[in-house]
Amino acid sequence: MKPAKQEMYKEWLEEAREVHPINRDCARKMVAEMLEFKRKTRLSLPSYVKRFICKKCNSPLTPGRNLRIRTKNRHLVYLCKDCRHISRIPYTKQKKTGK
Ligand SMILES: [Zn+2]
Repeated sequence: MKPAKQEMYKEWLEEAREVHPINRDCARKMVAEMLEFKRKTRLSLPSYVKRFICKKCNSPLTPGRNLRIRTKNRHLVYLCKDCRHISRIPYTKQKKTGK
């Protein structure tokens, strides 16, 4: 599993993000294809890609566009504005950094 291969997922996501404002269905299809590819190749998604895909509707998420991120109780709360799906991601790496 080389990091270089995983870079491809990032580009895939970027492309889907660009398509999203123009054609949501098409963008979702691109994400679905990416997940299908992942299943076939078993090349795991890097976390920074996984995080920006809505598990429910497969939309590529872009902060400020169709994604709202909030923090709550040491969790990141991701709200997909397309389907209102909420996912919570605990962040354990960063401990109190002021604020
Ligand atoms: Zn969604």
